[in-house]
Amino acid sequence: MEPKLQQAAIGVDLGGSHARAAVVTVAGRILTQARARVADDRRPEAVVARIVEVVQDALAQAGLGLEEIHGLGVGVAGQVRGASGVVANGPNLGWREVPLADLLEQALGTRPRVANDLDAIAWGEVRHGAALGHKEVLVVYAGTGVGGAFVIAGQAHHGATGVAGEIGHVKVRGPDGAACGCGGRGCLEAYLGGKNLSERLRREAIAWPDLMEAAGGQLDALHPGVVESLFVRGDARALAMWRELGEMFGDVLAHAVTLFNPSLLVLGGTVAEGCPELMRLARERLGQRASSVSLEALSVVAAQLGDDAGVVGAASLGRMVFESKDGGS
Ligand SMILES: [Zn+2]
Repeated sequence: MEPKLQQAAIGVDLGGSHARAAVVTVAGRILTQARARVADDRRPEAVVARIVEVVQDALAQAGLGLEEIHGLGVGVAGQVRGASGVVANGPNLGWREVPLADLLEQALGTRPRVANDLDAIAWGEVRHGAALGHKEVLVVYAGTGVGGAFVIAGQAHHGATGVAGEIGHVKVRGPDGAACGCGGRGCLEAYLGGKNLSERLRREAIAWPDLMEAAGGQLDALHPGVVESLFVRGDARALAMWRELGEMFGDVLAHAVTLFNPSLLVLGGTVAEGCPELMRLARERLGQRASSVSLEALSVVAAQLGDDAGVVGAASLGRMVFESKDGGS
């Protein structure tokens, strides 16, 4: 085997529409990858079959067999019950209590490490991205949904039932607040998540002509970046909306920083990347509202791995399990 292929691991990123697999080197570089659509049939057995296809495709491109791989990790958009690899709740897939690790082990003959996609992304940023060298890290992704993950004392922190860091489901409003995909009400994600925020914009566009105009008159073209562009132009409604959401997000970040005292906060996801002014307001609020001593060592940075974070991080989680079984070789 070529040296660069030694100790390669496989990472799988499973979202509501696609499954992607990549063969990843020990240095976090993607060697080969494959992608398949899962949106047409989200039954667990169909999705598992797609995952098997993309894993085998990525392996074949690299000229590797599964037996040569140093670990298999899967990051899935949903709540995962710790080491059992059961997806307790995956709203984007419509899954409840799906034993994904067991199903993949039966199909592939190798047991994967299944984790929440944000845990995988966080681990990717810690091992190979923006958080390299930091031991106390909070990673927050504001994209379609809102998620987060903790690294404590250099280790991914999953919590007692595997759902630590679910910052998108911290309640920012009471029981009569906006409905969230998790089944709860008043969650941060119900307001800041790109999917929910875009739905709100479509509702408000009827009475907000400048918003419709900025979206080229198309409701389908409305997304948070349109409000960002209006904010930059000084639109009063955009200013009010961004102030409201910036304060809301900044308060949740401040609570997390006060409680957990990280040295690094990594912000990523499409809403974070597409709305720098909203993130600036959230960071301002964080600076006002977190305890002053917790802020002394805190840096706030942008995620670095972009779309690759999910597969790179999942591969790294898989490798960690593999090495722990293998005595660290
Ligand atoms: Zn929720």
